[in-house]
This record gives sequence, C-alpha cells and structure tokens, in this order.
Amino acid sequence: MSESVQPDLDDRTLRAATQEMCVEEKARALFEVTSESGRTYTVDLREGVCSCPDFEYRDGVEECKHLRRVRIEVNQVDIEALQSELASRATDLQADAEQLEDEARKLDEQAREIENALDSLQEVAR
Ligand SMILES: [Zn+2]
Repeated sequence: MSESVQPDLDDRTLRAATQEMCVEEKARALFEVTSESGRTYTVDLREGVCSCPDFEYRDGVEECKHLRRVRIEVNQVDIEALQSELASRATDLQADAEQLEDEARKLDEQAREIENALDSLQEVAR
C-alpha cells in the first residue's frame, strides 16, 4: 500500500485519530474495526468502503472514521502532516480564544458603565 491519502482535517478525522478503536486485519486489505461503543464494522481498504451506517448514509462521498482510522494504522495517512495541521489548528483556536476574552472584557466594561449610568439616574430621580 504505497498510495498516501491525506484526509481533510475535520472532526471525523480527529475522532478517527483519537477515539478508542480496535483494528484487526482479517484478510489482505480487509479490517474489522471495533468502535468505542463496542460495535464492529468491516472496512475494505481496497474498495474504500465500510459497513457502518455513517458510511452508507454518506453514500461513500466522505469517509467514515473507521475507514480513516484504518488508513492511519496502515500508514496511508501522513501522520506528520496531520500533526502539523493539528498544531496550527490549535494555534488558531488559541488566537480565537484570546480575541473572545478581549471581547468579553470589553462587554464587561460596557456592562459596568451601564450600571454606573443606572446608579446616577437613580440618584437624579431621588
Ligand atoms: Zn465506518
């Protein structure tokens, strides 16, 4: 298996890489994948298909996490590329978090200003 497939780094790939799954090679290019929930599905790497409902539902357009996990286990996925994509994703998320914290601080300030204004109004009304 020399061809390398780099799947999109989406949630399904993340789950494929991180969830507890047991992968057993039953025959050449034929794998049995037992998921966290204890269900077992058959992945045919040559055909690029899986027996899980997620795969059938998606009509094979997108690969399910079982198929992706098998690709990871047999080194069809460039793990280093996956890692560096994950690292840059984490950096982006940190930047987003900092921006959100910044916005939260501004909103907090606005809330305090409004409270002060309310206090002043109450004093005027007295
Ligand atoms: Zn599947």
